[in-house]
Amino acid sequence: MGGLLKGLRGGSYAARDSVRAGALFDSASSADLLEFVENTQSIWVWQTDPQGNFTYVSEAFDKLVCPEGRSLIGSHAVELFESEEDEAAMPGRSLRLIMSTHKPIRDRILKIGEDADATWWCVVGKPMFDGETFLGYRGYGSNKTEEQRKAAEENQLASFDSLTGLANRARMEQRIDTMLATFVAAKRSCALMMIDLDRFKQVNDTLGHAAGDELLKQVAERLKRVVGENAEIGRLGGDEFQILMPDMDDRGRLGEIGQKIISILSQPFVLDGARTSIGGSLGIAIAPYDGIERDALVHSADLALYAAKHGGRGLYRFYSADLKNSERDRKGIEADLELALQRGEFDLNYQPIASTANNKIVGLEALLRWYSPERGPVLPELFIPIAEDSNLIVGIGEWVLQEACREAATWPKSVRLTVNVSSVQLLNEGFPTVVTNALANSGLEPNRLELDLNENVFLRDTQLIDEAVAKLRGIGVRLALDDFGAGMSSLGYLKGTHFDTLKIDPEFLRDACAPANRNGDLIRAIVALAGALGMDSVAEGVEAKDELALVRECGVTHIQGFIYAPPMDREELHDKMVNEAWAIEPNGPERQRAERRRVFRRCNVIHEDHFYEVMMRDLSRTGALIEGLADVPVGERFVLDFGEGQLAVATVIHSRGDKQGLEFEIPLVPDGAGGLCTRHRVSPYALAAAGMPLQMLPPGNYPLVGGEYGAKPKSMPKFAQLSIAAKIADGGEG
Ligand code: C2E
Ligand code: MG
Repeated sequence: MGGLLKGLRGGSYAARDSVRAGALFDSASSADLLEFVENTQSIWVWQTDPQGNFTYVSEAFDKLVCPEGRSLIGSHAVELFESEEDEAAMPGRSLRLIMSTHKPIRDRILKIGEDADATWWCVVGKPMFDGETFLGYRGYGSNKTEEQRKAAEENQLASFDSLTGLANRARMEQRIDTMLATFVAAKRSCALMMIDLDRFKQVNDTLGHAAGDELLKQVAERLKRVVGENAEIGRLGGDEFQILMPDMDDRGRLGEIGQKIISILSQPFVLDGARTSIGGSLGIAIAPYDGIERDALVHSADLALYAAKHGGRGLYRFYSADLKNSERDRKGIEADLELALQRGEFDLNYQPIASTANNKIVGLEALLRWYSPERGPVLPELFIPIAEDSNLIVGIGEWVLQEACREAATWPKSVRLTVNVSSVQLLNEGFPTVVTNALANSGLEPNRLELDLNENVFLRDTQLIDEAVAKLRGIGVRLALDDFGAGMSSLGYLKGTHFDTLKIDPEFLRDACAPANRNGDLIRAIVALAGALGMDSVAEGVEAKDELALVRECGVTHIQGFIYAPPMDREELHDKMVNEAWAIEPNGPERQRAERRRVFRRCNVIHEDHFYEVMMRDLSRTGALIEGLADVPVGERFVLDFGEGQLAVATVIHSRGDKQGLEFEIPLVPDGAGGLCTRHRVSPYALAAAGMPLQMLPPGNYPLVGGEYGAKPKSMPKFAQLSIAAKIADGGEG
């Protein structure tokens, strides 16, 4: 500071216009100047004794840090300077160590106060010596509050979503990376949830972007309410959200949280004074089980989300290795589908639609069939969504229309043709032309063609859909709303678009004939609604006589189902179709048989250090029935291995011959897809400890290791293993 004093003494201070001021400056001492600097609040100075206890602290700073009547003097510098983050960020370079070895203290950032009152200081300290003798530290802190605030603002912009205030994609990526890096080292787990809103696009399209933004904000608030403080929520863009939860691998608890998120998202939102409903689907992956690196973990969660969305929306799904296989299958199917059209592998089946009044066949629905030479027959539920996702449905759908119209032109005029149209086709600009061409080429009258539009058509861009629908109406074809009531039903569609036919989702028929079931009332209400709007109603999937009686009693105008006829190929159709008076006498079982919920699956059982292969005959949350081991005493304990690290400890509670009833120590939990899974899994960390390198474990697919990896059993097996091949043959494996 001597240099500074000299400069001032030299009279370089130009604005000396008063004698008083001049006198003050003339008499300036180091102490005066120090006081001046300290009072600017931009610097404070400090000094310690050799033990590190403060002997001097600028008064203004002391007041800032300490409550009334207290002082930093006498307290140890480490208590003030060192934060927990410092220690975490620079382990082994703790301030205590630096001070005890009398090293200089460099650029420590010190935060005083909280929130709006917070100030930041950059502290340096120099060890002072008298010859060899250490005297203590002297140092100063400079105010960095402005810089810190600016950096925080920039960080806020770079790391957070300005709309919802949630973390943005960049921050989530960085959070996942850091969490995985530290957690894998510490053998901790974390869960990653991916959330996708259902019908967000519709809100944006119909209510405008401002309403869409408001909705996203409200979604963010609701998510914050459900997940704890520890979790980090991010918006990755659009209507995609992500939640990262530290120390979480309990699938029971995660399922509960998932369910809570789904139900909180399906409660109505108020936008612009109007109530709007959306929904959400959720995919969950857990580290280290489903990935130990960000890409793998995110990919697992994405696959789970995809499965949740395709499982019917409004669902949560855990990642499992089958999803990876099904992704691989999906890619394979897509590749085969690309060639299927030119190779002529498609065919159409036709299913009759009967008039309830007189059993006369008034229509036939064309249903696509694919016979792949490599795969055999592939189910429409499997390949149609893939064809839709890959846009291949556009070309395939065109083929269906051409082929079906040509066929229908040969039928009696009283029989109409129904063709399924997916939203991808409808949104394709050329679709109305495809329809006109198919009609023109075949000579089929437009009013004999009915297009089945699925409800999810209306999840897409509504304006484009409206335009397409208007063009189709202009052509003069009939429109049917397929699978009405399957989930997204909104009376809004019926108000906005005129349909000729309402097809009731077959799900309503399930259990509708059981006592106290309200599905019958729902069917009645839907039929009444269709009637009031001048539409036909079709009950789909009618199989048994009691169902037929019920839908007739509800006043349904048309029926489609196995009770009249299953879908049939062209030859069979030509054999059966007689003339205008074609009618079918319904025939089916008296009542719908309860669905068999039994399982037949191979499963491994571990007892001591032996593996046995058994058949699992029944599975519930609390226990299972196994078959394949001889004479196991009651009370024996087994470990059931369901694969992918899912182990359940179980006790034999009854045993007869080769069948044992087991009770699980920890009940299974729902897997979100109608199945069951174990609450916890064997940690890959345990496998790594047993000699299997963590990096080698593919996500969600690790073999069980009893004890040491790959070790040979040391004892003789205690139970006789019976062959289960015969059992599979007679029980069927599903
Ligand atoms: P969808 O339009 O709801 O068609 C009715 C489905 O129910 C058909 O399944 C039919 O075989 C089945 N079904 C009919 N009666 C009964 C019954 O009494 N009991 C049971 N359990 N099932 C019955 P399919 O042929 O497997 O088709 C499945 C879905 O694939 C169709 O559902 C439709 O959405 C789609 N699809 C079929 N063909 C095409 C097509 O050419 N284009 C498009 N875009 N989608 C198609
Ligand atoms: Mg249909």
